[in-house]
Amino acid sequence: MRGRSSTSKASSWLTPAKARICSKSGRSLHPYVRWEVAFRIEREQEIGPQLRALGIGPRDVKRVVLTHLHMDHDGGLAHFPDSEILVAPGELRTASGWLGRMRGYVSNRWPSWFDPRPLDLAAEPYGPFAASRRLTEAGDVVAVATPGHTADHLSVLVQDGGTTQFLAGDTSYDERLMLAGTVDGVSADDRVAGATLEAIRRLAQAGPTVYLPTHDPKAAARLAERRLVATSG
Ligand SMILES: [Zn+2]
Repeated sequence: MRGRSSTSKASSWLTPAKARICSKSGRSLHPYVRWEVAFRIEREQEIGPQLRALGIGPRDVKRVVLTHLHMDHDGGLAHFPDSEILVAPGELRTASGWLGRMRGYVSNRWPSWFDPRPLDLAAEPYGPFAASRRLTEAGDVVAVATPGHTADHLSVLVQDGGTTQFLAGDTSYDERLMLAGTVDGVSADDRVAGATLEAIRRLAQAGPTVYLPTHDPKAAARLAERRLVATSG
């Protein structure tokens, strides 16, 4: 994607849905549906208009990386018809077809042209993460495996000077839960999710890290201020 001095590197790599959680209730069914998360997004809040307001048009976005395929993370795909879309193959399998819909995914709402490029992570450790894939030749943007919330969930790490901007998707709802090692309500595997949170803490202990989970109300301010994860170690 086109570099811009006025836009941080990490905000250039945001995921395509800009969602505001309006209500939750506790009914059963699939763990994701159970939360019955309702999204109400005004047209100008969608990622297309928001990027345009920053002077970034759809053709400026060469690649879009999806951390996973829950509807609040793939709902903005229609704004990126000309971009290369990258998805972990396992995540795509889990989300596709009627089985995917039984699991709470809404593949019927994907754009008709949606045909993502598989983002296979190699068994190449990146810091505390067991699998990774460089997304740029310079290696300053890397996808890492962060399973737990979904089995094939991934995160994107952007090196910005000496700081790692950690685009975390749904590894945790917010930074506090990550630091506490608390696995929140939506998790395919709590043990695996806990290990991922531990890996994130280890990365933050090893070097300056800005942690940016999608739904953390404080994430935007942390990114703007480059506020680092404060770890005790
Ligand atoms: Zn999710």
